[in-house]
Amino acid sequence: MQEEFEFTQDQLDIQQMTRDFIRKELPFEKIKECDEQNKVPMDVVKKAAEMGLTSITLPEAIGGGGMGQVANSIVLEEIGYQDSGFATTIGACTLSYEPISQYGTEEQKNLFGKFIVDGGLAGFALTEADAGSDVANARTTAVHEGHEWVINGTKCFITNAPLASVFTVFAVTTPDAGTHGLSCFIVERDRPGVSVGKDEDKMGIRLSNTSEVVFDNVRVPDDHLVGKEGSGFKMAMSTFDVTRPAGVGASTCGGMKSCIDKCLEYAATRVTFGQPILTNQAIQFMIADMEIRYEASRALAYKVARLIDSGVKDSALASASKTMSSDSFVKCAEDAIQIFGGNGYSKEYPIEIMYRNAKISQLFEGTNQVQRMVIVKSLLKASGMM
Ligand SMILES: Cc1cc2nc3c(=O)[nH]c(=O)nc-3n(C[C@H](O)[C@H](O)[C@H](O)COP(=O)(O)OP(=O)(O)OC[C@H]3O[C@@H](n4cnc5c(N)ncnc54)[C@H](O)[C@@H]3O)c2cc1C
Repeated sequence: MQEEFEFTQDQLDIQQMTRDFIRKELPFEKIKECDEQNKVPMDVVKKAAEMGLTSITLPEAIGGGGMGQVANSIVLEEIGYQDSGFATTIGACTLSYEPISQYGTEEQKNLFGKFIVDGGLAGFALTEADAGSDVANARTTAVHEGHEWVINGTKCFITNAPLASVFTVFAVTTPDAGTHGLSCFIVERDRPGVSVGKDEDKMGIRLSNTSEVVFDNVRVPDDHLVGKEGSGFKMAMSTFDVTRPAGVGASTCGGMKSCIDKCLEYAATRVTFGQPILTNQAIQFMIADMEIRYEASRALAYKVARLIDSGVKDSALASASKTMSSDSFVKCAEDAIQIFGGNGYSKEYPIEIMYRNAKISQLFEGTNQVQRMVIVKSLLKASGMM
């Protein structure tokens, strides 16, 4: 019911274009094959990039779409309807660009943006083995030498890493300074000393590749430091305020809608005891609950996207959207398996893959426990208790 969200004609056109594109280019058979092989369909990435879907939030001046988070949410929701792993691959480009969008110079926007506009993928390298939820515990260092920074360390679980042409990298520039010790850098994949590990063999989102990125005495010039030295933690959090509602909040709404459509179709034709299972209230109520979760998640995701586009960032609302949507998607996918019965558990049907895909949405871009910490902190601050 897009009328409710008062999408502009441009946004409606993007919605239709993305929907037509992804449902044609990424049918279930292709998703199944890529899922089995843990493979990103690069032919579809190439076409998506040509259509501007990887660069929708990048400035028009450098060849991007010049649009905001409502448009980005629409794109990721439509792609998420088909496969949330592929939505992760595409969404990681605007995620990686976001710190540069918010804090970068025009030259840096050009430098980084060009890789994406030219059809490349990008990676956002924050997490380390001992710095997942505890971001400030990062061990990757950047040391200033002459007019360069020398980066050493290993990032893990980095989306797109095996395929990316450029990375946004967070490294410690002041040891033992906690959240004030991190800084953000642009690092091109082809710099000497950058290497990537093997693809993680993941439970789900297998149309997205994830791996370690190793920095071994990687030298970048001074102009690759994004924003102020020491402001990397703030930049990462400010990035998530923008990307959580779109990258998780909206894209998982696509997955939920897909569960609803597939369950309605299946339940209308699957007959037990002489009647379609859809005639049972037990089945109807599960579908009704999916719809409730979908509409509530979607309303929140677009509310936050609209606020961001009007210049308002709200960490707690962004976290609420991410949490609401991801918890809802996991529950919808679980109930969808229940409705499909044994067939829902079989790889012959497009349901079990959604269940496997859904789980990560409660973990990445900050776990849902971390989101709840953000929300409570905001409540405590607002009530003067902190
Ligand atoms: C497929 C995939 C893709 C990813 N893509 C990227 C990427 O592109 N870039 C990137 O930088 N990272 C990425 N990540 C990393 C992801 O963001 C982290 O895995 C996530 O932040 C959790 O960190 P962790 O795995 O170290 O878990 P931990 O931090 O070890 O947490 C383990 C558990 O403890 C809970 N926990 C931790 N601390 C607390 C606390 N104080 N209170 C209550 N509970 C707590 C957590 O919620 C979780 O349930 C990706 C991960 C995966 C699996």
